[in-house]
Amino acid sequence: MNFNDFPYTRPNMEEITVKSKTIFNQMQEAKSKEEFLLKMSEFNEIRLHVDSMLNLVYIRHSIDTRDEFYGKENDYMDMNSPRFQELQTEFYKIILGSPYKEAVDAKYGEHFTNLVELSIKTFKPEIIEDLQKENKLTSTYNKLVASANIMFEGEELNLSGLIPFMEHEDRAMRKRASEAYFGFFSENEKTFDDLFDELVQVRTKMAKTLGYDNYSLMAYDGLLRTEYGPEEVKGYRESILKNVTPLATSLRERQRERLGLDKLMYYDETFSFTTGNAKPKGDAEWIINHGKTMYEELSKETHEFFTFMNERNLLDLVTKKGKEAGGYCTYIPEFKAPFIFSNFNGTSGDIDVLTHEAGHAFQVFSSRGFDLPEYHFPTYEACEIHSMSMEFFAYPWMENFFEEDTKKYKYSHLEGTLFFLPYGAAVDEFQHFVYENPNKTPKERRAQWREIEKKYLPSRDYGAHDFLNQGGFFFRQQHIFNSPFYYIDYTLAQVCALQYYVKTQENSEKAWNQYVELCKLGGSKPFLKLVEFAGLENPFMADTLPAIMPKIKEELDNIDDKNL
Ligand code: ZN
Repeated sequence: MNFNDFPYTRPNMEEITVKSKTIFNQMQEAKSKEEFLLKMSEFNEIRLHVDSMLNLVYIRHSIDTRDEFYGKENDYMDMNSPRFQELQTEFYKIILGSPYKEAVDAKYGEHFTNLVELSIKTFKPEIIEDLQKENKLTSTYNKLVASANIMFEGEELNLSGLIPFMEHEDRAMRKRASEAYFGFFSENEKTFDDLFDELVQVRTKMAKTLGYDNYSLMAYDGLLRTEYGPEEVKGYRESILKNVTPLATSLRERQRERLGLDKLMYYDETFSFTTGNAKPKGDAEWIINHGKTMYEELSKETHEFFTFMNERNLLDLVTKKGKEAGGYCTYIPEFKAPFIFSNFNGTSGDIDVLTHEAGHAFQVFSSRGFDLPEYHFPTYEACEIHSMSMEFFAYPWMENFFEEDTKKYKYSHLEGTLFFLPYGAAVDEFQHFVYENPNKTPKERRAQWREIEKKYLPSRDYGAHDFLNQGGFFFRQQHIFNSPFYYIDYTLAQVCALQYYVKTQENSEKAWNQYVELCKLGGSKPFLKLVEFAGLENPFMADTLPAIMPKIKEELDNIDDKNL
C-alpha cells in the first residue's frame, strides 16, 4: 500500500479508554501467565494503532501545514495524547505489580520492565500542569526562533536562510551574516533569559515533586538511562577534554593555515576551503536516483529497504510551500513503514539526510518484527549509532554525489565529527551546572557557559562581540531549551560510529554484517548491551577514545587538504 492510501481515522479517546480499562481489569484478574500475556498483547494492539494514527497526523500535517483537516487532527492529538499517556502509565503499573511479572521478563527480557520502572518514576498526575507549562515554554522558544525575520542583502530571511551567507567565500560577508544571526539573539536577550529561567524553575519544581534532589537526575530517568548516571558521564566528558580537545584545536589551526588567515574567527569556523565547501552536483531528483543506486549496491538488505521506501512513497524530501522546516525519521507501526521527511536545499546536508535519516529508517525497518512498541527504537544514544554509522558506510558512494568535491566532503565530514565531540561535552556540562544550581541568575549562567566554552573549545575567538563574549551563544542551541540532557547522546553515538568507520577499513563486509545484526535488535536491549553485542568499545571506558583518535587523525593527515 502507498503512503497516500494509508487510512486515517480519528482514535476515539472515550472508546479507547473504555476498551483499555476492560483489558486492565482482565489483566488484574488473569488466572494464568498465558492469559495475562494475551491481554497485554491486546493493549499493545491498541497502542500500535493509536501510535500509527498519531504519526499519520504528524507527518501529513508537517508536509502541508495549510491543510485544514490535518491541522484540526493535530490539535486533537495535542490535547489527547497526554490522556493516552496516563492510560499507558496505568498499564505499566499493572505489569510491575503483577504476579506474572516474571513471565513478562521471560517473554520480553528484563529490559522492558526496567524501562517501565523508569517511566513510572518520572510521572505522577501532580506534575501534569507543570508538564503543560513546560510544553508551552518550549513552544514559545520554537516560535520565537522561527519568527526571526532579518533584512539581509536586500532580502527578508529567517535564521536558516542566513546559513549559506555564513558559509560564504567572502569573509566580510560571513562576518556580517554571523553578526546578523547572533544579532537576533542579542536583541531578544531578555526574552531568552526569562524563558530559560522559567524552564529551569518549572523543571526543578517537577523534580522535587517526584522526590528527586535536582532535575538532572529526573532527566536521566526520563531518558531511560538504565545503565549509567551523571558520574559516568562526567568521566566521559573528562576523557573528551583530554583526548579530543587538543586534536580539535590542532585541526582549527590547520584550518586557519589552509584558509590563509592571521586569526580564525568564530565566523570562519563553518568555512572549510578557500575554493568553497563541498556541494552535491545535481538537483533533488538526481540525488534520489543516486541514492537508489547506492542502497542497491551497498547490500541486499538496504536494496530491499530502499525499494520498500520508494515504492510506498515513504520519502518526502523536497522543500515545498507550507512544509514544516527541518528533517526527521519516524515510524508507522500498523503498516510497518518508516517515513523520512526533509527539506533539500542544495548543500551537503541533503546527502546527510539520505544517509543519516535513512540509517534511522533502516534500523526500524530491520526491527519491525517486534510487537512491543518499546522495542521498535532503542534509547537515543543507541538510535544515533545507526544513523551516524550509515553516514560512514555510505562513504564509497560519495563520488556519485560530489564528483570533484568528494575529498572535500570526506575531509569536512570526518573533521566535523572531531569538532562536534568537545562541543557536545560543553553543552552537557553546562546543563549539569544549570540544573544543579537552579538559583543562579541568567547572567551567571551565561558567564558559566562562556567558561565551559573556553575549556572545551579553547580556539574559539569572538573578537569584540560583547554578546557572545558574555555567553550568549547557547541561546541558539535548541536542545538546551527543548530536550534537556539529550545532547551527550549524539557524542556517545559518534564515538561508536567512528569505530565502525575504522572497522570498515579493516574489513568492510564484516563491519556491515555486524551493523545489520545490531539494527535487527532494535530497542530490545539497553545502550551498553547493544554496544557490547556489536563488538564496539564502550565510550565510557578511559581507554576507548585514546585508541580511536590516532586512527582518525591519521586518516585526516593522509588527505592533502591544503590543495582542495
Ligand atoms: Zn539522528
